[in-house]
Amino acid sequence: MTPFAYVKLDDPDAVVAHLAATPGARVIGGGTTLLDLMKDGVEQADELVDITGLPLTGIVEGEDGLEVGALATMSAVARHQVVRARLPLVAETLLAGATPQLRNMATIGGNLLQRTRCWYFRDPGFAACNKRSPGSGCSALEGEHQRHAVLGTSDRCIAAHASDLAVALVALDARVDLLGAAGPRSLAVEALHRLPGDTPERETELAPGELITRVVVPFPAEAARWAYRKVRDRASFEFAVVSAAVGVEVADGLVVGARVALGGVATKPWRCRQAEAALVGRAPGEDAFRAAADVALAGARPRPGNAYKIELARCTLVRALADVTTEVAP
Ligand SMILES: Cc1cc2nc3c(=O)[nH]c(=O)nc-3n(C[C@H](O)[C@H](O)[C@H](O)COP(=O)(O)OP(=O)(O)OC[C@H]3O[C@@H](n4cnc5c(N)ncnc54)[C@H](O)[C@@H]3O)c2cc1C
Ligand code: SF4
Repeated sequence: MTPFAYVKLDDPDAVVAHLAATPGARVIGGGTTLLDLMKDGVEQADELVDITGLPLTGIVEGEDGLEVGALATMSAVARHQVVRARLPLVAETLLAGATPQLRNMATIGGNLLQRTRCWYFRDPGFAACNKRSPGSGCSALEGEHQRHAVLGTSDRCIAAHASDLAVALVALDARVDLLGAAGPRSLAVEALHRLPGDTPERETELAPGELITRVVVPFPAEAARWAYRKVRDRASFEFAVVSAAVGVEVADGLVVGARVALGGVATKPWRCRQAEAALVGRAPGEDAFRAAADVALAGARPRPGNAYKIELARCTLVRALADVTTEVAP
């Protein structure tokens, strides 16, 4: 591992000023993924700025919804009473990710900014990776891409986004509050992550040195029911092969509101608005769910090794929709 300096700061403005004045400095939250990537030579930093002392760990019921400090740990958010009562989808996705030990260290901001699990990206022994080394090619296109994305891909990169929580947050219309050299601003979580396009190395809309300070999650309608279905290789800690976060509100036998987002199949947390529109006005049931799932996956562009994800995602979505309605799952 390349030597690096370490500093711990306890004021957000001081962190932003320090990052602006110190090229090569990177912030570290729980460190559960950044340190791995540095040890493997995938990421570099001349200096790590420890932000775990910032006063950004609060979890508060605010006017716009639940306000979660970016330094709150995954565990603290998942067990919070208000989260469990009013945002069970958030608790569910957090508990579906990583391990208890990791969740005790990992922060909400770090979770959203974790990088892909593409094995070529994470192993510098493979020279060709446009995300790690722009312009070098993509080893996954003709290589082992069973775990890669089928939605939102480009000819430069097909890496899947890894965060479970982010899938819930896009379904819930959450936003992130940011602080950078240009001051504070907010972004929808849906707009935080970029599609790979021609620049897969640029994964988010964050400006250099910009911090996530807070995540704000609107409270959904009380009548809606929510579920997260995650398909993975084993029940213990493992990333999603495919996942679906759904929320459905039914009145007088018809769907009157729907939220659908997919994980594991796309290059960013994937909101499926057309699938939501396809559900509204229909009676909940297998026909409506299958039609919505077809719409959600209509734009998929598989490679030979990951085409199975399309049918797996359809079935996962149908099951998740069945979970939140009275229909028996097919
Ligand atoms: C074995 C294992 C299994 C896992 N399984 C899952 C899983 O199933 N599902 C899942 O979703 N995740 C999973 N993870 C990923 C885990 O959730 C992340 O490692 C963790 O959430 C990252 O949070 P952190 O605070 O440790 O981030 P760090 O490692 O500290 O930072 C990650 C990145 O975010 C940046 N950063 C951190 N905080 C901020 C901030 N506030 N503002 C700006 N930049 C910031 C850092 O500079 C760095 O680039 C797994 C990880 C491991 C090691
Ligand atoms: S899929 Fe993306 S991250 Fe993986 S090797 Fe190709 S360019 Fe790199």
